Amino acid sequence: MLLINGKVLIHNGEGLNFVKADIRINSSTIKELGEKLTPLPDEECIDLNGDYVLPGMVNSHYHSYTNILKGTSFGEPLEMWSLDTVALGRILGEREMALSVSLGICDMLRSGVTACLDHIPHLATSHIAAKTYKNTGFKSAIAPMLHNVSDREILYEINEIYPVNGKHNKFPSVKDYVDYYIDFINRFHDPKGNVKVILGINSPQRANDELMKAASELACRFNLSIHCHLLETRWQRLSADNDISPLFKLDKFGLLKEQTSLAHCIWMNEDELDLIAERKAAVVSNPTSNAFLGSGIFPLKQYIKRNIKIALGSDGVNCGTSNNMMDILRFLLLLQRTQEMDYTQWISIEKGLQMITKNGFDVLGFDKPFGEIKPNHSADLAIIDKNSFLDILDDSFLNQMVFNASISAKHVLIDGRFVMKDGKISVIDEEGLRREISAIKPYLGKNMRKALNIANEEKKIYKSVYESLLISPSNIQ
Ligand SMILES: [Zn+2]
Repeated sequence: MLLINGKVLIHNGEGLNFVKADIRINSSTIKELGEKLTPLPDEECIDLNGDYVLPGMVNSHYHSYTNILKGTSFGEPLEMWSLDTVALGRILGEREMALSVSLGICDMLRSGVTACLDHIPHLATSHIAAKTYKNTGFKSAIAPMLHNVSDREILYEINEIYPVNGKHNKFPSVKDYVDYYIDFINRFHDPKGNVKVILGINSPQRANDELMKAASELACRFNLSIHCHLLETRWQRLSADNDISPLFKLDKFGLLKEQTSLAHCIWMNEDELDLIAERKAAVVSNPTSNAFLGSGIFPLKQYIKRNIKIALGSDGVNCGTSNNMMDILRFLLLLQRTQEMDYTQWISIEKGLQMITKNGFDVLGFDKPFGEIKPNHSADLAIIDKNSFLDILDDSFLNQMVFNASISAKHVLIDGRFVMKDGKISVIDEEGLRREISAIKPYLGKNMRKALNIANEEKKIYKSVYESLLISPSNIQ
């Protein structure tokens, strides 16, 4: 297939720019780029009429089950919000999970996102997500969550209220986790294809040593990348300072390495930052989610200073965010400007775009590269209508795309196949999706309300401790 007359985002001698070029795609791969390529006999030729072509973007930290929970949180700090999302997650069965995964894929395709890292807490329905990704062609690195210690047992001062190893602990056994992982890997792990498995520790403090050891063995045995939440909130920092640093715990079990990506990483100390750099792990910032939950601001400067790879994620969409990675990048860039008086240190658009393209590929770690428009890369492309931009200065488009336009894709290709054409998604029946959601609305709404009411009871205890920590003396700001 030959895509002609596009303006393609590529590196030329002067950096990243939109350049007039044709793209030859053979099967799933970009084969050739150049001006006025000659069509081969029988080659399908598609005229892009001057539309703009970007590499498909990557959402490097995401929870698919939350798409159907959009708007269920009005905004409370993470520890309280977690009680809601855990309770809401419990009421979602196979059908609701399938709808939620599909909703997320549609959202992402519409904003030009073609790959995600899906950190999944619900193992019993994780196969639904895997099958949906497989069927739609959407690229997903699935990280089923490993955890067997609840926040009640480890959060500073909450752990004084609840009995240790109380009867509320309903986690699977370590053997069950290992069996599950082996089965899931055998069924779905295909790094050459569009679905792969990542070892998804929830957060190191939420897994006991036995589970961490088993996780480490699984990662070695199947050569898995590793992903986890890390030090997202001040309360987690306080808890870590009264116990072991979750990062050092991860390292102790050999799980902090180049194939490791760490989501959030807001409340870090110097030793931890240095260790991430030393191990060459990547961090995934989720700035909109962190702002919504009041978790804090990602210390971008500290990571840039140490040359640590940064990717971006949306986190769950019930954290006041969307799955539009360009919007999330914009938020990060604007936020940095409010924090950095030295404007020469502001992140360039090129560096920012790398966080939602190539660095995302590095975090997900598929065999065939994507995230750049280059020969021998997967043909994962988002095509934006030329009318989205004001065509006055020809070097203003990147700037407009990141800061002025709300990006929505006209066409999207994954592995050389159109999954969205002229605004119509071909791999998911969007109308059918809306109909199905309407059909389950009455019982789902009732169950959601019930779940939120149940969570409210426990939330009262968390709130009182949280408020006491706000006024308690601490050297943590
Ligand atoms: Zn998360």
